[in-house]
Amino acid sequence: MDLKKYVANVKDFPKEGILFRDITPLMNDGEAFKAATDEIVKFAKEQNVDLIVGPEARGFIFGCPVSYAMGIGFVPVRKPKKLPREVIEYSYDLEYGSNTLCMHKDAIKPGQRVLIVDDLLATGGTMEAAVKLVEELGGVVAGLAFLIELEELNGREKLKDYPVLTLMKY
Ligand code: 5GP
Repeated sequence: MDLKKYVANVKDFPKEGILFRDITPLMNDGEAFKAATDEIVKFAKEQNVDLIVGPEARGFIFGCPVSYAMGIGFVPVRKPKKLPREVIEYSYDLEYGSNTLCMHKDAIKPGQRVLIVDDLLATGGTMEAAVKLVEELGGVVAGLAFLIELEELNGREKLKDYPVLTLMKY
């Protein structure tokens, strides 16, 4: 299935000069959503994964159906002050300023094999932060899966120690 048919390319969103890849049409179409999910499930099985991690908010949308299909757990990675119990944090630099991501401290058991799922790989900063959080808790990052990879931003370079699946490249 040509999944790119279900991506809307939105000029100047969220600011001028950015071409935003909008994956909501893909979510809106049952067959396309299922096809994308099935490919990630196949990869997760190949990597022998026993837990899915997803950064907010679009990582939840694509990570949770994979958890459900495999009958394994899902762990949310969230911005500060969203998770109610004790968390670990990781901060990383952006072009302007910085970002912090958090995970519940008891979310992963040492040795668990984790697949991290997000909608899009740009610079790789978000995924690198999620990897650090998983590893800090003793999880094994068995794979990283994205719907879309923006190749010119070279995010893969940051993630070269891990198996990476991307369903569409731009
Ligand atoms: P990175 O940290 O790799 O630079 O950026 C990836 C993160 O930004 C992902 O969590 C993704 O949801 C979001 N993101 C950045 N650009 C886009 C885009 O064009 N479309 C979508 N859907 N998400 C984007």
